[in-house]
Amino acid sequence: MPSQPILRLRNIVKKFGTFTALHGVDLDIEEGEFFTIVGPSGSGKSTLIRILVGMEETTEGEISLRGTRIEKTPANQRPTCMVFQSLALFPHMSVGQNIEFPLKLRKEPPSDRRARALELLELLRLPAEYYDKRISQCSGGEKQRVALARALAFDPEILFFDEPLSALDYRLRKTLERELKELHNRTGKTFVYITHSLEEAMVMSDRIAIMRQGRVEQIAVADEIYGRPVSRFVAEFMGEVN
Ligand code: ADP
Ligand code: MG
Repeated sequence: MPSQPILRLRNIVKKFGTFTALHGVDLDIEEGEFFTIVGPSGSGKSTLIRILVGMEETTEGEISLRGTRIEKTPANQRPTCMVFQSLALFPHMSVGQNIEFPLKLRKEPPSDRRARALELLELLRLPAEYYDKRISQCSGGEKQRVALARALAFDPEILFFDEPLSALDYRLRKTLERELKELHNRTGKTFVYITHSLEEAMVMSDRIAIMRQGRVEQIAVADEIYGRPVSRFVAEFMGEVN
């Protein structure tokens, strides 16, 4: 029997008033994979992952996490975590305080929190001295790493990323793409990643879903999308990045 996907979506429909942002999305995401959702601006990528993390309700459809329905489960009770483009760090707090924030919410003792924060700094290849550094003193790339460390402190089963690199310059983006991929390998967690850049998707992903106007147009490994685009839209979308 094939293994059960970690996340199964069936007929996800999202309406905003009379406008339909998602027209019945079906997806199976496998345990441990780096799954990327790519598509032009307005195609429904953010809406879809906001629904998956519970920040937005579905109008219709089912979401199962390892076979358990979660579409009605509140965001804070889902074992998932989101990393935003804006990072949403607390600028007035130290790096350590930011990373420990989820652990504090869980009322873990200060010494355990500190130990875990230091482990996460190491995992993200930031020096231990950064523990006491202010967020406002960190560079863009460092902030990105702190945001990742904080997301991992939640110990989520799935990490969702909504265009976390799109505001960064090209070189930093390339470096962080590589680091994210490494982080995926080291943690073995399931990553669901959104980007409007097919190039970025190709570099990092196990599989890619291409979205267009609230529908999934194609799901495939990167080579397949290059070799056998299912539609003119996919072929043209690829053309834009080459
Ligand atoms: P993407 O992330 O792919 O750029 P979004 O998921 O943000 O796309 O948006 C998909 C469509 O849904 C867009 O047309 C957008 O304007 C619309 N939309 C998103 N959120 C809302 C909202 N809260 N109210 C009304 N329309 C929305
Ligand atoms: Mg978006």
